[in-house]
Parts: sequence; structure tokens; C-alpha cells
Amino acid sequence: MKYEIYFDNLQGVIHDEVAKANETVKIAMAWLNFTLYGKLFENLLENKVALSIILDDNWVNQLFKEKIEMLKGRGADINFLKMPTSIDDYGKKKTNIMHHKFAIIDDRIILNGSFNWSENAGLNFENLSVISGHDYAVQRFNDEFDFLKRMDEGKIKDLQILEDCPADDCDGKLFNLLLYDPTNVDNYEMYGNVYEVCSNCPYDHYELLESGVSDRFFNNVEEHKGSQYDELFDKINSMEKEISEEEKKNLINEIDNYIAREYIFYLNRYGYRKTENHTVHAIGKLKQEKMLNKHEDPDWIAEIYWKEKFASKFIDDDYDFAFDMR
Ligand SMILES: [Zn+2]
Repeated sequence: MKYEIYFDNLQGVIHDEVAKANETVKIAMAWLNFTLYGKLFENLLENKVALSIILDDNWVNQLFKEKIEMLKGRGADINFLKMPTSIDDYGKKKTNIMHHKFAIIDDRIILNGSFNWSENAGLNFENLSVISGHDYAVQRFNDEFDFLKRMDEGKIKDLQILEDCPADDCDGKLFNLLLYDPTNVDNYEMYGNVYEVCSNCPYDHYELLESGVSDRFFNNVEEHKGSQYDELFDKINSMEKEISEEEKKNLINEIDNYIAREYIFYLNRYGYRKTENHTVHAIGKLKQEKMLNKHEDPDWIAEIYWKEKFASKFIDDDYDFAFDMR
């Protein structure tokens, strides 16, 4: 893994890095000047590099429509993402921005920072990071790029607006939680329900919206996790010297972290989620704490693995009850 941070000659750095591309260049950019970067893009297309660009739909980017059409004619995939309007802190109506400034080159190098690929950005204080050979970073930026590709103004608006809780004296917001039950598995599919939940009074206000939603991945991970635990406990039992509770806890945490990361990878790939009838703002699973001490019978909790970005601040990491599934 290599990490470089630049504060000057950022346009030059971008040109150098992008020109090295052999296979793919994916760009998500708030402002992009095609007079400055058009020739670079033409060269990529000539060299059979797949070029895919998502631009914020604003009038500055629209100035380059002619050039964009020309590049599309040569095989580039260029799309504008229109954002909805909202009311800002001062009561004024404003259009939101697809504010990213990142590029993914050959699924190996990430360019990211404050720097727009525009003329104006050259006169500002800006930063640009170049990360190469970091699989996790590549994965996360690819997920975000794919997510943006699936988005449009209507879908974004749908995700941004949460209804108010109907309870008196509660200023919570209602979100939809898809919750899986690891004991409800049939034919390799794990089943779950969708609940409408209040962010402030979840215990008092949750309502079943839909049942029988199934997913194969959840079952696969759960089985994998189960076998990892078994392996770990075998290993601990066969050890000659006692290992401390602390060490045991660390080993279990390691598995949990690994599993949580698997979930994040998988769930982010879905981004905008709808069951048949409902937008999903969070996905979780019932969990019974795995205990080394077998005398206790632990309670079920709902652990949240994924949150939709606009609703995220209203959603906890876990809930200490099992909704009406237990
Ligand atoms: Zn409430």
C-alpha cells in the first residue's frame, strides 16, 4: 500500500495518474472542466480504457455538454446526477450537490480529496490523496460509485425524507428496519421482517410492516461464522496452557469484526434497498451474545449492520430487545 498527499500542482498529479490507466477509469466529480481534461479522456478512449463519469447536474458542468456528447460518441459512459432541493439552515431553498471528488483507476489507485477537476480549484487551497494497492479503499469507493449510478432525484428524495413519530411529545423520526432472524432459516434462506421504528421511542413505537423477507447471504455468513466459532473453541480447548478471559474475548472480537466487515461489504453493494413494498433504511439481525460461560442464557438483541446514509444519524448500532420476533 502506498499513500501520497499533495497540496500543489494537483491538476498535474491527476493527469499523470489518470494517463497510466490500462483498463478502467471511474470518476465521481462535483465540478469537472472538460476543456482541461477532455484531451486526457480522448487519449484514454483511444487506448480502449473504459471511462465512466458521474457528474453533479449543475449549470457549470452542463456548459461542456457538447464535449461530453463527443466523448460519449467515442464510448465514454457519462451521466449527470440531479440532486433534490431542500431547505437550508436559514430557511432558504437550495439544491443539494453530489459533492464527491474521487476517481478509481484500474480498480487499484484512488484519487480523492477536496480538489475539483475545475479551473477555479487551481487557485484555492486544496488537497489530493493518491492511495494505491489498498483493496478496502478500492472496494468502498467502488461501492459508492455503483450506488450513485443507481440513484436519481426521486430515489434520493425518498431516502432523505423520514416521517415524524405520531406519539405525543416525541420528536423522533420513523425509519424502516429490515431485521433477520438467524433461527428462521429454510432452504439456505434466512427470513426476516420489516418494522417501522421510531428513532426516539423504539421500544414503544415499532410496527410490523412486512414479514417473510428472505436473504441467502445472511445465512451463508451465519454458517461461516458458526464454523469459525467452533474452530476457535476447539483451538482454545486443545491449548495446553490456560488462556485468559481477556485473550478469549480478543479472539471472539476478531471473528466478530471480520464478520461485521463482510456484512458491510455485502450490504453497501445494495445501497438503495426496497423490499416489495418498503424502502429500507437499516438492516440488522437478531443476535444472542455468544458466551464462553455457558451457565448464562443471554438475551436476544437486534444488531444493526447497515444504515442508509441520510437516515444513519437516527439509527442506533443495536437495540436491546428483539422486537416481536422473540
Ligand atoms: Zn417516537
